[in-house]
Amino acid sequence: MVSLSEQSADWCVDSGSVSIVGTHMAEYSRESMGERWCFTCRKRHNFDWVVMAPVGLSYYGPHVEIHGVRAECSDLFPGWSRNWGDE
Ligand SMILES: [Zn+2]
Repeated sequence: MVSLSEQSADWCVDSGSVSIVGTHMAEYSRESMGERWCFTCRKRHNFDWVVMAPVGLSYYGPHVEIHGVRAECSDLFPGWSRNWGDE
């Protein structure tokens, strides 16, 4: 008998030809970053700094996502990507 926190959050589906792996993640914390320029909407609006963490034991650690008002929102210039600095 293992408690929920001791179960792995990593999952793997093997269909024979391809295997798909992933990690069950859940929103851990959310903090407003205030209004920033959105290159998708071409206007300023609120962005949230969202920390996503695995729901159980995982090879992967928590990571941060920037959420705008829509899924496509980005406060980065098109084509640019964020360097999170630990890879
Ligand atoms: Zn936007």
